[in-house]
Amino acid sequence: MNPRQSLEMDELHENRSRLLTSLQDRGVADTTVLNALLAVPREEFVAPELRQLAYDDNALPIAAGQTISQPTIVAMMTTALAVEQASRVLEIGTGSGYHAAVLAQIAEAVVSIERHPELASRAQAILKRLEMNNVEVHAGDGSQGWPASAPYDRILITAAAPSVPNRLLNQFRPADGSRLVAPIGDQALQHMTIIERSGVKWIKRVVGQVRFVPLRGEAGWSDSEWTDQWKSEWDRRWKPGT
Ligand code: SAM
Repeated sequence: MNPRQSLEMDELHENRSRLLTSLQDRGVADTTVLNALLAVPREEFVAPELRQLAYDDNALPIAAGQTISQPTIVAMMTTALAVEQASRVLEIGTGSGYHAAVLAQIAEAVVSIERHPELASRAQAILKRLEMNNVEVHAGDGSQGWPASAPYDRILITAAAPSVPNRLLNQFRPADGSRLVAPIGDQALQHMTIIERSGVKWIKRVVGQVRFVPLRGEAGWSDSEWTDQWKSEWDRRWKPGT
């Protein structure tokens, strides 16, 4: 590592610690989750020109018109998912692979599905380089889950879904405490929703309002149902020089 690279690393490390403090200020209190975020170098998951913004508490654009989620949202969703050391987690919407990496710090195994093959293979390559060997990434329609690697203890959807895809519920381990977290709603706004199994029932709770890119696929939104309004918003915000 040359002196310039080493200076950049120091700066990024400092920014990562500062982000942790600001997450705590915003109410993230779970130390397992905070440690997981501290362990993952977010700058590795964003484009080289955005490395310096990696520890701002913002969503950032990635390829294919998608986003890497805001760290506060990653922390809150991970907390809501109540991941345990023995959990097998299914993530729908790999995107950059960052949230999968955070989950992999806590869980036994993470299976992550991304519908854009180029994002899936990029995320897989980064996770491999970082030696996060308990994550498998697949390209496909995650709105149908990933039955081949089921059963799961936790399922996380990181894109806005119109409703909970029914097929996912069959892929849970049939045990109390199995839990799904997803932003459910329309393009204007979604409710961050937790669904937890208790006996033969699923108990639903809403823990906040958020705004995500759409879940596509069989149990997601079609092009005609979801306008490109959201994409244009990103284009405006991230146009070079603005
Ligand atoms: N978790 C990601 C990260 O850490 O970078 C951010 C996810 S981004 C907000 C939502 C992702 O969901 C996008 O990459 C999008 O392509 C993906 N997606 C949308 N519909 C999907 C589907 N049916 N199956 C799998 N991935 C899907």
